[in-house]
Amino acid sequence: MDCVFCKIIKGEIPSYKLYEDDLIMAFLDINPYAPGHTLIIPKEHTLDINTIPEETLNHIMKMAKDMAKLVTSKLDAPGFTLIQNNGFVQEVKHFHLHVIPKYRKNLEMDIKDVYKKITH
Ligand code: AMP
Ligand code: ZN
Repeated sequence: MDCVFCKIIKGEIPSYKLYEDDLIMAFLDINPYAPGHTLIIPKEHTLDINTIPEETLNHIMKMAKDMAKLVTSKLDAPGFTLIQNNGFVQEVKHFHLHVIPKYRKNLEMDIKDVYKKITH
């Protein structure tokens, strides 16, 4: 299957990985809305909110809080937003939850510097 997120999980495409366990993986969005924009995905390929197993979804929501805490604290973001797209607005057809830090001013940062700030 030609799924970009499955390839990231297999390590066939590089990613700025922030977290991984048996069920899920979290990494920086390559085209971020804001510095620290993170995606959380299930390791098992599934399309969207209608197809993801309940247990995996619950785990992703729980980890979203942890990931948001991590990125907002490391990057001094005073807020964050969660987004999850389905249907025609969903570009990548492998379930993903966006965790998007929010800043009072527009911030431009290189993704490599963002990754360093979060992981060091
Ligand atoms: P959506 O519109 O919810 O399907 O969003 C898909 C997201 O995946 C976009 O924000 C893209 O920037 C992001 N994306 C696509 N390819 C990659 C990649 N190789 N690594 C990281 N993020 C990606
Ligand atoms: Zn996939």
